[in-house]
Amino acid sequence: CGIVGILGNTSVTPLVVKALTRLEYRGYDSAGVATLKNGQIERRRAEGKLRNLEQKLSQTPLSGTIGIGHTRWATHGKPNETNAHPHATDKLAVVHNGIIENFRELKTDLETKGIVFETETDTEVVAQLVTYEMRQGRPPIEAVAVTLPRLRGAFALGFLFSGEEDLLIGARHGAPLAIGYGDGEMFLGSDALALAPFTDEISYLEDGDCALLRRKGVEIHDASGQNVHRPLHKIPTGS
Ligand code: GLU
Repeated sequence: CGIVGILGNTSVTPLVVKALTRLEYRGYDSAGVATLKNGQIERRRAEGKLRNLEQKLSQTPLSGTIGIGHTRWATHGKPNETNAHPHATDKLAVVHNGIIENFRELKTDLETKGIVFETETDTEVVAQLVTYEMRQGRPPIEAVAVTLPRLRGAFALGFLFSGEEDLLIGARHGAPLAIGYGDGEMFLGSDALALAPFTDEISYLEDGDCALLRRKGVEIHDASGQNVHRPLHKIPTGS
């Protein structure tokens, strides 16, 4: 239900949680965070309120300067820890708002190729599809680009990749997603409110956009693959 992504310069987990608290108003049943630690994906997830996630994080902290987070409002699969986002493979972690309408046929297709699913969610199909493409030798950006046109429904997605310390990918198709511009830092969020503690410069993705975020800036491609610019908005600081 709420997406956050941060390419930072300090430990991002507290910042991701802070942004998630600003998305609580949307309602949610579970939450999670994933970061890269020595290039490997690590995550913590918890059923229920963010306080449960924070408790886990205080017991087993999560370091890393790049991370994604999520508050989930379950549509497919029970609201438990296994089904909480981020969903991950050895290659990537993904957070998702909305619904992948054709996940059953995509899942069946992957299962016939021997892929074993861990969760009941529609979201895991995105994680497994992109991972499958990467195993065929595609780099992360290309693997996402060939996967997005196969997905039906209204969704926003945020991706983090193993070994990629300076890349987050955001994609929007019928659910909002904002980019926040920092000084040597970049942010991804479901709305400007989530990002207001970190930046006052925001742009909004349009439907079909795929954004490649790096600390030095963002490159946005529209549905036809063209490079596009989305207008910058100044939002009131501290709002
Ligand atoms: N459809 C996804 C799920 O049930 C995402 C729901 C959401 O937007 O939080 O896991």
